[in-house]
Amino acid sequence: MSLVDRYGRRVEYVRLSVTDRCDFRCVYCMAEDMTFVPRRDVLTLEELLAVGRAFVAQGVRKIRLTGGEPLVRRNILWLVEQLAAVPGLEQLVMTTNGSHLADMARPLKQAGLARLNISLDTLDPARFRELTRTGNLADVLAGIDAAQAAGFAGTKLNAVILRGRNDDEIEALVDFARVRGLDITFIEEMPLGQIDEHDRAIAFMPSEEVRARVHARWPLAAVPDDQSAAGGPSRYWRMAGSPTRVGFISPHSHNFCHLCNRVRVTAEGRLLLCLGNEHSLDLRQVLRERPGDDQALAQAIVSAMDLKPERHHFNLQEAPQIVRFMNMTGG
Ligand code: SAM
Ligand code: SF4
Repeated sequence: MSLVDRYGRRVEYVRLSVTDRCDFRCVYCMAEDMTFVPRRDVLTLEELLAVGRAFVAQGVRKIRLTGGEPLVRRNILWLVEQLAAVPGLEQLVMTTNGSHLADMARPLKQAGLARLNISLDTLDPARFRELTRTGNLADVLAGIDAAQAAGFAGTKLNAVILRGRNDDEIEALVDFARVRGLDITFIEEMPLGQIDEHDRAIAFMPSEEVRARVHARWPLAAVPDDQSAAGGPSRYWRMAGSPTRVGFISPHSHNFCHLCNRVRVTAEGRLLLCLGNEHSLDLRQVLRERPGDDQALAQAIVSAMDLKPERHHFNLQEAPQIVRFMNMTGG
């Protein structure tokens, strides 16, 4: 079985948002005063498992649990354990803000989670509080330690760089990754949801500029035929004398849509075919109208492939066309 869209792209990777809620309110991701989806509208853990199984039955090989903050979802370990045991699923991974990893890293490893991406935009405690509005840097640093102590390999840091806010820490973040043997990916801010905290056009920091800064300190060599990046938006580079890879996700300056192998499922069960478009299909409706009907779910997923748009168009000069925030999108 395989999922192929109208442009011949094979979908093998699903990002599954397990909650839209979060203990942080990062300035680029959320408004300060967020309204979350009523709990009854969020997929249950059993529904999330059914969705995961249905995708794997259609040839999906990698699932990333995300959110919101996946570790604030109650009983998330049950879902990890169940999904990790689904035959055919090769990689079950998670993106987290790291705030709960100090306690959760070991149980997650035991439950079968393969890898972690941890978001870290600054190493300065006061700035960390400012950018996340509620977070404590020390918790996240303890979480990174715990992930490494629990034996997670291939851990990657994600950093969103905003001009004038944390662009002076690009080298320090790379250095942190080097010292700890982690990979790091720099992400351009995307215009998802209406925020008032800053002007995204002014804060925009192109990946090329970030890369030039890193390159000036540690000359970078492109990673050729990078299999871990296959179908993904990240482009990776290496530095001499270090296993650390430096990646860049550049939705503005580098269009990667022709390689796109992924879809997203929001916490409400909306199957999103593209990060930068609203094309979607309501899987929750199928799950709740036809409970236990694997055939109906499979059919919905297969038919949705025809909705996957050819590419996204982000324009920072206009009001955001995508009204959903990143925490809804399942970033
Ligand atoms: N809460 C988890 C975390 O922060 O890692 C998982 C969900 S979060 C939405 C996933 C990633 O999206 C994070 O690395 C975050 O920095 C990034 N992100 C959030 N809003 C973004 C935006 N507007 N543009 C680019 N990246 C964004
Ligand atoms: Fe929460 Fe992650 Fe969004 Fe920050 S980026 S508010 S940690 S979901």
